[in-house]
Amino acid sequence: MSGTGGGLRVNSPAPDLALAARLFDQLRQDSFDGTGVTRDAYGPGEQRAHDLMARVARELGLEIAHDGARNLYLTCPGRDRTLPAALTGSHLDSVPAGGNYDGAAGVVAGLAAIAGWRAAGFVPPADVTVMAVRAEESTWFPYSYLGSKAAFGKVSREVLDLPRADTGRTLAQHLADCGGDPAAFGPAYVDARRISRFVELHIEQGPVLVDAGIPVGVVTGIRGSLRYRDAKVLGTYAHSGAAPRANRHDAVRAAALLVAAIDGDWERMEAEGEDLVVTFGKFFTDPAQHAFSKVAGEVGLCLDARSLSTATLERFDALFAQRAAETGERARVRFELGARTGSEPAVMDAGLQQLLCDAARARGIAHRVMASGAGHDAAVFAQMGVPTAMVFVRNDLGSHNPDEKMDLADFAPACQLLADALAAPPALA
Ligand SMILES: [Zn+2]
Repeated sequence: MSGTGGGLRVNSPAPDLALAARLFDQLRQDSFDGTGVTRDAYGPGEQRAHDLMARVARELGLEIAHDGARNLYLTCPGRDRTLPAALTGSHLDSVPAGGNYDGAAGVVAGLAAIAGWRAAGFVPPADVTVMAVRAEESTWFPYSYLGSKAAFGKVSREVLDLPRADTGRTLAQHLADCGGDPAAFGPAYVDARRISRFVELHIEQGPVLVDAGIPVGVVTGIRGSLRYRDAKVLGTYAHSGAAPRANRHDAVRAAALLVAAIDGDWERMEAEGEDLVVTFGKFFTDPAQHAFSKVAGEVGLCLDARSLSTATLERFDALFAQRAAETGERARVRFELGARTGSEPAVMDAGLQQLLCDAARARGIAHRVMASGAGHDAAVFAQMGVPTAMVFVRNDLGSHNPDEKMDLADFAPACQLLADALAAPPALA
């Protein structure tokens, strides 16, 4: 944007929503598995979606290209082709028996925006590229953000030997099935310095927008995570009638005390304004040893904490270790937290957030500024230094399931904001 700040941020003609509706219908038809949609990464499901987008791009007269990982790039040439391009897009794979909109909405939105420009005779100031990203869902290949990282040359060639979870066949074999050449896999295809911005439209995968009654979200950042996937509480098995309280080393009681203590800490940190979500997603005794009449000697549990702030995650990690030590002493058990894993938070670009909020205000689109709890390809672009933003669309009934329900009436304003952000001049204020 010009450096004048404020003011109207309405840059783009209306997107072609009829095209969007047709594409969603065709995608569903092409990938319906009897229960939900399955677009398997580097398999026939994902490939059909790629073929569909390429076909539409050809009809729109866009330039079509692939990188060594078979990510697809559909480019609408701008007035000045020497300027850095604006990128948009998302992934076209889905989880097995998933929903029709997770990922695909971002690619459809990009094409609908460009189709609207073509119909209105509008040419953007710089090139605009819609990217269809491969393999974002790590259920297929055990690797996070495979496609977007590969676009930046950040995936080592050893990954070609990874087997896909269901077929057992390697990435190299699947890549070849999709018209790729494993020998060409590896080098960077995109250059962060040649990208003015990456803006990803995606359905919201939590209930925030539905609960708030607001159709569109402007994302502040993508939460990073702190994980203990395999923590243990080790006590001693004992007779439930014969072991007095003072002699017990009860792993269930200790684990429950820890969860309650951490819940209190979470509540306090949230009240202090810290961004944090905490989940103990697994919590179990050993079915081979546990019994109705036994004090449990072992509990397995896992922790997944997420925040927009690395400092918050570090503070929480220290607190978790402290609570485990205190609880271990109090309940006379031992906590083995195991290996820590996780990811860095990705902060969205302040100027782009402003641009999206200004456009929403200028157009009278109700919107909320919010964090993303789930990971997205946009995180990779942000981490590579590309100014990055995300637009969320209200989506009922959750995600990663066949009931995922996005209303086209909510998609429309989100797609308009995406088009505005892509049509804005490359030099952002
Ligand atoms: Zn997604």
